Amino acid sequence: MATYREQGIVLRSYKLGETDRIVHLHTQGRGKVRAVAKGVRRPGSRFGGRLEAYSHVDLQLYEGRNLDVINQAELLASHAAVRADFATSAGASVMVELVDLVAQEGERDNALFLLLRAGLQALDAGPADPAVFVDAFLLRAASIVGFHADTAACAVCRRPGPHAFLSVKAGGTLCSDCAPPGTRAVDPAVIAGVGLLATPGEWASLPAFARDDALAHRTAASYARAFVEHHLDRRLRGYPAVPRG
Ligand SMILES: [Zn+2]
Repeated sequence: MATYREQGIVLRSYKLGETDRIVHLHTQGRGKVRAVAKGVRRPGSRFGGRLEAYSHVDLQLYEGRNLDVINQAELLASHAAVRADFATSAGASVMVELVDLVAQEGERDNALFLLLRAGLQALDAGPADPAVFVDAFLLRAASIVGFHADTAACAVCRRPGPHAFLSVKAGGTLCSDCAPPGTRAVDPAVIAGVGLLATPGEWASLPAFARDDALAHRTAASYARAFVEHHLDRRLRGYPAVPRG
């Protein structure tokens, strides 16, 4: 049987039979993998504790007919602090829910892998306000899978911004010519906030944005959720559980 090695992050798992689990992972090289972990629910299982949700693991698997089978698992980062706290755990569950929705099996998506790893690392550090990291994660993940919230130009005519109107459906800001009549202008701080949330790699300035401009953050966060749910045509079930100040 063909074996392979992969790094992956555990998205979720569920029980199979008496002692096994089916584990969904987003891997670095093969996109989403659904695999069986045999015997992990037996007491004293060698690697059951290494396959908890949000764990970053190095795996050896062999290819099965339907599902691959996990042969070995080594922890690279357990992200135990994420699971230990209600707010960070609620935030992480939205991140993995979204990845589980958009990741394709057998299709390499390293950008999504790196985003998930960065998002979990940010939550693992125990931020005072985890929600802003979730908001950023939503827009960045959507961008990776082809739906970028554009605040640099008008989403319709491409005229360079900043512009004062914001549209979920159009995919970003709109200029005054393209905005439908009667559309209300948005506070520039909200537009800047959406831009910040959508900027890849920009994590360090998120807490200050959420703290110093709570109103703009709240509106930008609502936009991020609506944007993702509209363009992916799915509800984020875990979203309402994320505590917001
Ligand atoms: Zn325009």
